[in-house]
Parts: sequence; C-alpha cells; structure tokens
Amino acid sequence: MSVARRPLIAGNWKMHKTASEAAETCGRLRALVGNQPSAEVVVCPPFTAIQTAVDALAGSDIWVAAQSVHEQAQGAHTGEISAPMLVAAGCRGAIIGHSERRAAGETDSQVAARIQTAIANDLIPIACVGESLETREAGETDAWLARQVRALLAGVRPDQADRLVIAYEPIWAIGTGKTATPEMAQEACALVRRTVDESHAADLVRVLYGGSVNPANAAELMSQGDVDGALVGGASLEADSFAAIVEAVG
Ligand code: PEP
Repeated sequence: MSVARRPLIAGNWKMHKTASEAAETCGRLRALVGNQPSAEVVVCPPFTAIQTAVDALAGSDIWVAAQSVHEQAQGAHTGEISAPMLVAAGCRGAIIGHSERRAAGETDSQVAARIQTAIANDLIPIACVGESLETREAGETDAWLARQVRALLAGVRPDQADRLVIAYEPIWAIGTGKTATPEMAQEACALVRRTVDESHAADLVRVLYGGSVNPANAAELMSQGDVDGALVGGASLEADSFAAIVEAVG
C-alpha cells in the first residue's frame, strides 16, 4: 500500500447530534484516538455541529468533514451549504453523493460537479458509490460501480487523484446490519480501483468500505488489500465503538 493510501476511518453522523452532543462525543474521541499513528480519523457532523466539532478537536489529528457540499460558491440555493462556507468553518472535507442523498435526487453530474468544487476549495471529497440489492442480484454490480466511478472522475483532473477518497457502500448494507463479506468488499473495492486506473493514478486514491461496519467486523474488512479504511454510520455515534473501529486498523 502506498504512503498516499494511509488508512482513513470516517464517521458519518447523518442527522444525529446537537452541537452540545457533538462536543461531548468529540471530547471523548479525542481522548481515545486523538493522535492515532495508524489511521487518519474523520468525523462528519450535521452542518449545525460542524463549528463545535472543529473547536472540540482543535490541536488533535482528528479532522472534520461535512456530509454534503453544493457545487456553487454562493447563490439562491435555499438549504444548501457551499465549499467556502465549510472551509471557513474549519472543515477539511465533505462526503459527496451518499446513497441517501442520491435517493433524494442527487445526480451523477451533480456529484461530479460537487467533487470538482470540493477539490478547487481544498476540501477532500469522500465520494460514495454502491449498488442496490436488485443490481447485485441481477449480477450487474461491476457494471454499475464502474459507471458510477467513471461519472464521478469527470470532476477530478489526473493530477488531483491524491485528493480523492471513494467509499464503496453497498446500499443493502447501509444501516441494515447486513455487512458485505470481506471478500465482497475486497472484490468491489478492487473493481473501483481498476476503474480509477483507466484514467487516474489508482495508487493515490483511497477506497473505503462502508455498510454496517462495527468493532467486531472492522479488522477483517480493513485487512483486505484494496480496502483503505471505512465509512462508518451507526457505529460512529458512540465514541467508544468508533474508537474501537479506528484501533482495529492496527
Ligand atoms: C453510512 O451511512 O455511510 C453507513 C455506512 O452507515 P452504517 O454504518 O450505519 O451502515
């Protein structure tokens, strides 16, 4: 694994935690894994808790990412947040194209534009791809993932590949307790990397697995050759279980 592919564990809090709850979780997380040499640790709070999380983690190695970012810098986009706003609040990255947002209408071309905007503003995009159960059962997972990866790469110049993180998150595994087997995670992450390699330096891109990762299954999932870390939902809400996942990187 190249130095560029340092393991990354990101916690997606989704629509959970007020600012004061975020401060408490960040304080505990900082005590547990604030300076973790084996992995990069990231928390993704809701917009209203970003500033608090940034302040609570200042001086530690844990960094903060948003759960989405709009492609425009400003304008008439009610309810959206721009990359310059996130940077000003202390964010260093943003999840882009999570399946819950794609289900609410976010398109491949928006995902590509948002990745482009994130990179232009020095934010690390954590771009999500993943197949539905129907797609998997139809034997179309590889074609689906390759198409999603090629679409999101439209927002990334070859010399920007080291900025990119791609999270493979099978939709059927998100929040369901049904984890992909380590072999399935490896196969899909390898496919993502091979697809990146068609146009970008794939050894610079980190590919994460996401979908019901927990302290019990994390080590085996992350020991797979093409899995560079995890995007964690439910198990990231408690500092102790998230820290146990970080420590599973070894
Ligand atoms: C997610 O929402 O990105 C996720 C992986 O959730 P969970 O870990 O709860 O399946």
